[in-house]
Amino acid sequence: MIQHGSTDWMAEARCLATGIDYFDLECGLYPALMLCAVCPVADECLEYAIANGITAGVWGGEWGDHLSAYMEQGGVGSTRGGGVPT
Ligand code: SF4
Repeated sequence: MIQHGSTDWMAEARCLATGIDYFDLECGLYPALMLCAVCPVADECLEYAIANGITAGVWGGEWGDHLSAYMEQGGVGSTRGGGVPT
């Protein structure tokens, strides 16, 4: 898989030391979003997912259709913040 963008930001990822499975949204979505909300590299994380066409799991506090919407818009821009699903 070809990766676009630097991965240096991953060293500061809040989720690194947790046991949260970011690809299992049934169990991990809410804990993941709480971590993403205070993560110092959330913007880099989201931009990485968009640049690499990744829609599985949580990236920068966004997930699923929200990630796809950013990709369709061509980036993060000013529409960031999909919120917590109800
Ligand atoms: S924004 Fe969320 S998923 Fe991305 S590195 Fe930070 S804690 Fe992990």
